[in-house]
Amino acid sequence: MPHSDPVQSLDPAAYASAPEATAANDAATTEAQHKRDFNKLQKRLRRQTGNAVIDYRMIEEGDKIMVCLSGGKDSYTMLDMLRSLQRNAPISFSLVAVNLDQKQPGFPEHVLPEYLDKLGVDYHILERDTYSVVKEKTPEGKTTCALCSRLRRGSLYGFAEEIGATKVALGHHREDILETLFLNMFFGGSLKAMPPKLLSDDAKNIVIRPLAYCKEADIAEFSRQMAYPIIPCNLCGSQPNMQRQNVKAMLDDWDKNHPGRLESMFKAVTNVAPSQLADREQFDFENLEAKQEAALSERIQAFNVG
Ligand code: SF4
Repeated sequence: MPHSDPVQSLDPAAYASAPEATAANDAATTEAQHKRDFNKLQKRLRRQTGNAVIDYRMIEEGDKIMVCLSGGKDSYTMLDMLRSLQRNAPISFSLVAVNLDQKQPGFPEHVLPEYLDKLGVDYHILERDTYSVVKEKTPEGKTTCALCSRLRRGSLYGFAEEIGATKVALGHHREDILETLFLNMFFGGSLKAMPPKLLSDDAKNIVIRPLAYCKEADIAEFSRQMAYPIIPCNLCGSQPNMQRQNVKAMLDDWDKNHPGRLESMFKAVTNVAPSQLADREQFDFENLEAKQEAALSERIQAFNVG
């Protein structure tokens, strides 16, 4: 076989093509590595979504899941994860995407219908001018997000009922849950977060959060690689909620400087010991003496029998 080494062959063309071939090889290796990393990321997100769905029995046979799609990275990722689950789960359930057009100036109305048409996903665009209500009711200089979210939730829950959806899926992830935990502790004086599954106050809707176990950074990277047509939330011109931003920065800092801390904190949310806290509603501190008496007499009885 002829030797292809350019030094051996003394072929000028071979001299020219050697660096090009090396560059092409490097590019192919990098590309293959990217693909492997993407597959790993996708698998992780799918696995975590599947685990959350199973752990909290979020989806049952015959469910009609209304997937709330805002056009942000989280909701696009959630739709993707639920579609994958739908293809692979041993049960059958349907998905319908719903976007609330809040009539914010500059809202790109065509983006989501085009995206969903291309996917072949059933969807509704719900038009409600919550933007005007929020602008009218919020005092100048105050953040509008709290009222906006409340109105949005009300519109979506009502619509879920109208279309006969059995579950309402929201795209909150692990960091949303932890941020809410700290916001409630810092400003609300209560130890509560955002549950993976929730019955609405009027008992008409069951809300599920299939991305509850997923890290925000993973979702952000997945969304970037999927090149979703992102619609920004702040079209309304509102300042982002400063307290939430501060808590977010605190968590980001911990995640960078204390690896494993967020994982441990999330585990804590799933592993509560009411007897080690101080909530009299959650644990009967008043009757510990009676409990003690019962435990002691049980032990004496066991001793006498033995
Ligand atoms: S940024 Fe604007 S659209 Fe988004 S939640 Fe806040 S008020 Fe609503």
